[in-house]
Amino acid sequence: MVIVKKPDKLRICIDPKFLNLALRRSHYIMPTLEDVLYKLPKARLFTLVDARDAFLQCKLDTASSYMTTFWTPWGRKRWLKLPFGVSVAPEVYQRKQHELLTGLSGVEPIADDILVVGCGDTDEEAEQDHDGKLLELMDRCRQVKLRLGIKKLQFKVKEVRFHGHILSWEGLKADPDKLRAILDMPQPENVKSLQRFIGFVTYLAKFLPHLSEVCEPLRRLLDKDAVWHWLPKHDNAVQDIKRLVTDTPVLKYYDVTTPVTIQSDASKTGLGCCLLQAGQPIAFASRALTLTEQNYAQIEKECLSIVFACQRFHHYLYGRDEITAETDHKPLISIFKKPLLCAPKRLQSMLLTLQNYCLNVVYKPGPEMYISDTLSRATAAGGAPDYAQHTVCNVQQDLDVLSQINHSDYLNVTDQRLLQIKQHTETDESLQALKYVVLDGWPDSKEEVPLTAREYWTFRDEIGIQDGILYKGPRVIIPKSLRSEMLTRIHASHIGGEACYRQARDTLYWPNMQNEIKDFVSHCSACNEYAQAQQKEPMMSHVLPTRPWQIVSMDLLNYAGQDFLLIVDHYSDFWEIELLPDLSADTTIRRCKVQFARYGQPDRVISDNGPQFACEQFRRFSADWGFEHVTSSPWHPQANGKAESAVKIVKNICKKAKYDGTDPWKAVLHWRNTPSEGMDSSPAQRLMSRRLKTLLPVANKLLEPCVVTGVLEKLRRRKQIAKLSYDVSAKDLPELSIGEPIRMKPLPGDRTGRWRLGSCVQRVAPRSYLVDVDGSLYRRNRVALRRAERLPIQAYVPPARAPPEVLNAPGPHPQSGGNTAVLSEGYIENDIIQPHEPSSLSVPNTPARREGGPVSMPTGAARPSPGKISVALRSGRVSRPPDRLNL
Ligand SMILES: [Zn+2]
Repeated sequence: MVIVKKPDKLRICIDPKFLNLALRRSHYIMPTLEDVLYKLPKARLFTLVDARDAFLQCKLDTASSYMTTFWTPWGRKRWLKLPFGVSVAPEVYQRKQHELLTGLSGVEPIADDILVVGCGDTDEEAEQDHDGKLLELMDRCRQVKLRLGIKKLQFKVKEVRFHGHILSWEGLKADPDKLRAILDMPQPENVKSLQRFIGFVTYLAKFLPHLSEVCEPLRRLLDKDAVWHWLPKHDNAVQDIKRLVTDTPVLKYYDVTTPVTIQSDASKTGLGCCLLQAGQPIAFASRALTLTEQNYAQIEKECLSIVFACQRFHHYLYGRDEITAETDHKPLISIFKKPLLCAPKRLQSMLLTLQNYCLNVVYKPGPEMYISDTLSRATAAGGAPDYAQHTVCNVQQDLDVLSQINHSDYLNVTDQRLLQIKQHTETDESLQALKYVVLDGWPDSKEEVPLTAREYWTFRDEIGIQDGILYKGPRVIIPKSLRSEMLTRIHASHIGGEACYRQARDTLYWPNMQNEIKDFVSHCSACNEYAQAQQKEPMMSHVLPTRPWQIVSMDLLNYAGQDFLLIVDHYSDFWEIELLPDLSADTTIRRCKVQFARYGQPDRVISDNGPQFACEQFRRFSADWGFEHVTSSPWHPQANGKAESAVKIVKNICKKAKYDGTDPWKAVLHWRNTPSEGMDSSPAQRLMSRRLKTLLPVANKLLEPCVVTGVLEKLRRRKQIAKLSYDVSAKDLPELSIGEPIRMKPLPGDRTGRWRLGSCVQRVAPRSYLVDVDGSLYRRNRVALRRAERLPIQAYVPPARAPPEVLNAPGPHPQSGGNTAVLSEGYIENDIIQPHEPSSLSVPNTPARREGGPVSMPTGAARPSPGKISVALRSGRVSRPPDRLNL
């Protein structure tokens, strides 16, 4: 939907580009002047009227109506009448008008006009005849409810103009208007303008060979050694040429059946166009640009020249099937193919006007546009457009509306802010270069564009300028010096980067804006401090064991007020639990030894960072018994999924046994003897190569030892499947570097929800880091660490000391006690590893920066946003227009 504001009304237009592609035009041959001429031998008086809002007088049937549905802030709407812009509208309307007026003598519908002719031998007779017919027409209009307009009315005149002719009591004669552009052409004043003039003559010479001879004296002026000396003979030659050119056979009569081409061009000061059929001119037109129009962007001037051509040659073009429009401005071609909304406002309005005509815009290199080029440059300089006095239709009025279009009216921007943008644009080197290119017209190749403006090349057709402010389509191009302030405003409510961009892209533009917004938001202190949890990372798999009891995971679990040690084998899933009378390291180690004495020494033991495991005794134990001990990051239990799921199973079995009042150990035995899902063997079979005898009857043969094969392969497949489904919503986080400022995820108990600022001290394992936050060292998984926003350089001083000896550090922090944090990729575990004096750390967290939030911003005198009204829909739902960025 496109809204066109006129001084006194609001017009809603649709851009039915895609609907038009699907519509088939009906071939309705419209009557032309030639068709009715023979009926008018004694015509003396004429009245020319047209229908008011012609298309809107045609009702649409329901099916057609739905095809014109468009979206507005107040819901979907559809047209009930034929809207402007639908390609078939002219034919549909004209056929209808013709049908409605059929049978009236002396009343001739021609194109979209209605001609009433008064015939008679004397003026009185003619007047009587005219009045009678006009009254009949009025009666008919009243009957069929056809409303006429007054704007274009020519009432009871002796001659009327259209189709390049003047119709009068004398008959039909050529309209001097269509030749005026040539006749009024000023004399060539220098070599360059003479060259253009001769090019123009040479082109036309193919229709009149004699022309070249007349041109000869002029040609001599262009000789290499000739001195510019304008003589009367040159004057005569120019006059002769003008006379010849404006006479037949150079100037052809219009033929309804041959295709038409319009050629139009804009120079710095004027517009020129001509109507061609088979390369031969039919009519010429040119005019000077007003001072306002001279400040249009080149693309707008070029488009204006097409609008000018269409309006001047309206009677030739209206309702025609395919009109070729030639332009030498390449960017114009691409904007014709884009949706209307991409164009700057003024261009948009011109394109809307052109929707009336079925145009096919093609590119023709400038030097080949002999006629229009000469005409556009040869207009009398300055002053109001001279055609205004004899214009037939209301071209001038439409163009006035064009120059009143103000981009800023369509933006929610204060005048103050606009002034500011304008001032900053004036001092912006790159935008000044761009402005120059836009006003002067884009060159044909990117290389010719000044370096500073080259980044705008790809959408050069969308750039316009008004009042010193550059626009890309409807969006303001923000100068460099204002961008950081705009970023602050865009992010004023601390919404996410994507949402910020969605909001900004309606009104603002600068190259790379999307990335800059994203970058700005990712470095906002307030957003970083109160961030959401990060996305999980892809699953990291442990090395698979090749034999039973090679890798085991350990964890503590508490059930019914008692603590247990759980040990689970990675190869068989077989687990053992041991009651722990206390949580000391010595007790834990003793229980481990019981199990290791039964099943053998493992190669690797995985546990969390509990004080029983992350201590000197356990380190000595592992050295003594010859196994590797691996610990996981605190608060990251996912790292030891094996122990975690075994704990769940144990608790489940116990709970259910208690509910039934049965022996839990019988349930454990049964579980160990049940084939695991996807494995075809039970944990007991995999660990001990035999089935266990249970209460279920079983053949003796089955209880004999038998080694289970293919376990490793099945384990591998199971792992792959688990990883696949886990990784669907996971994403790798980039590695952190030492000394990098970071933010640490709040601990589960932390009600403030703040991600505290710190620095990365050491990478202890894949995805596991030691960080320094507020003078304490923590070990965290990468998921719990976020890269901190950009900080002032002096604010962050990396701690000047060697990485601490973390492996043996005791764990005094109570939070790290036996919880469910489990096995993983790391080595040590302890929440706080080494508290130390805060003075040695300069974590860049000045209170002002943390609490103050983002830079405070001026509120500005925001004007009340227009159209911000809630509307109750027919359904009763209240609909509000979408929020727009208030600058
Ligand atoms: Zn923020």
